[in-house]
Amino acid sequence: RDLFLGRRCESTAAESSASSSTPAERYEYQAEVSRLMDLIVNSLYSNKEVFLRELISNASDALDKLRFLSVTEPGLLKDAVDFDIRIQTDKDNGIISITDTGIGMTRQELVDCLGTIAQSGTAKFLKALKDSKDAGGDNNLIGQFGVGFYSAFLVSDRVVVSTKSPKSDKQYIWEGEANASSYTITEETDPEKLIPRGTRLTLYLKRDDKGFAHPERIEKLVKNYSQFVSFPIYTWQEKG
Ligand code: ADP
Ligand code: MG
Repeated sequence: RDLFLGRRCESTAAESSASSSTPAERYEYQAEVSRLMDLIVNSLYSNKEVFLRELISNASDALDKLRFLSVTEPGLLKDAVDFDIRIQTDKDNGIISITDTGIGMTRQELVDCLGTIAQSGTAKFLKALKDSKDAGGDNNLIGQFGVGFYSAFLVSDRVVVSTKSPKSDKQYIWEGEANASSYTITEETDPEKLIPRGTRLTLYLKRDDKGFAHPERIEKLVKNYSQFVSFPIYTWQEKG
């Protein structure tokens, strides 16, 4: 079951709820993360559409983890919502949001999972990409290694992650921008944005990539790249 639980960035500890309301805090990315983001954006620009596969695969992993953990800890499901993935497009504003009802992340997990590279697969990817570039190779490596979350910046100027773990009684917002060396974490306080559990990613698309914010485009990508995801994926267009 290492597949589901092996990420070193996930803590097993419950998050202390003692910390009172927290202001926005700014964090620097680990140097490897900045390097990875540079590499992704510079090597894979011709293959941008993979961002959706990567983000859906994270949503699916988060749902798998919740399902697996809830076998021994049924209490995790107390906010009984369906296991699904919802993709909403706002074509007028060039925004895509991807929401899952999976395991979510605590504040600490946001720092550890989205600010550092805790996964050996990613380190291998970095090395393979560098070797292939040194050898004048192409960038087909994307097919062999998932580049993960940071692929969101292939198409986005700004990415906002709002997430609620059953291990925490608070919901947190991670916010990062393309080509930045730092990100922020804030507590979610807008009652309209609170979710019972899981994660909502909001992608503010780059000017030239706003075309991805169309349901037909998304449905096509889902069909091409994510047809084996075992949770329902719903797509709809925000009414203007
Ligand atoms: P990988 O999926 O290969 O572990 P990623 O870069 O795609 O690497 O994601 C990094 C980590 O961030 C994941 O392992 C997971 O812990 C966390 N994460 C990303 N997206 C989500 C999500 N939707 N829900 C919960 N955790 C997530
Ligand atoms: Mg991933």
